[in-house]
Amino acid sequence: MNLLDFLFPKTCIGCNKFGSYFCDNCVSEIKQSELVCPFCERASLGGAVHPVCKRKYGLDGLWSLGIYQGSLRKSIQKLKYKWVSEMAKDLVNITLTYWALNSPIILDEVKKDQGKSWVVTSVPLYPSRQKWRGFNQSELLARLFAAKLGLKYENTLKRIRNTKPQMKLLSPERKQNIKNAFVLAPNSSLITHNVLLVDDVWTTGSTLKECCYQLKRGKAKKVWALTIAR
Ligand SMILES: [Zn+2]
Ligand SMILES: [Zn+2]
Repeated sequence: MNLLDFLFPKTCIGCNKFGSYFCDNCVSEIKQSELVCPFCERASLGGAVHPVCKRKYGLDGLWSLGIYQGSLRKSIQKLKYKWVSEMAKDLVNITLTYWALNSPIILDEVKKDQGKSWVVTSVPLYPSRQKWRGFNQSELLARLFAAKLGLKYENTLKRIRNTKPQMKLLSPERKQNIKNAFVLAPNSSLITHNVLLVDDVWTTGSTLKECCYQLKRGKAKKVWALTIAR
């Protein structure tokens, strides 16, 4: 045990047991969501979009670790308001472990070309909001995923509108709220690239779909959404 662990002992997000942010018991209780197609949200192998659901500017797949409840919900809430980088690392490791076991279609694709054509990106916050909050949890998760997968991280999008928090809106309002909130970042090297788009939670998917729309208009080839919870 190092000094920091001694002074600030880690406790399990789920059950407060000392030792780690996610004890083995709570990890095993993370409810796996069935992987679904990002368009119709019905079951789909590996989370790939169904051939009939494929749209020109739509997502090609969605991969999430588990259902937004229990320790997963608690950890994501902590991630928003108080940054605990060690906890984010644990979340990323748990996600990648599950991923490897659970029809890793997209992981196999990334490995196939040794990640050369893939970049990892995140959902940007509005600059003044990011300044106020001090960090962007989506970007921090995305950077950790990129490092673990040996892929390049890039800020490919810019938020040009300060939107209302999606969590506070009903699902029909969310799509309208987020419409045209993003543009491609200047100097983005997206062309011909495939993108892993990372965020903490998929709720209605409107934010990730809007980001995907801009990425594909910017000539990204494939775009997969990757979230911790759904
Ligand atoms: Zn626990
Ligand atoms: Zn579908």
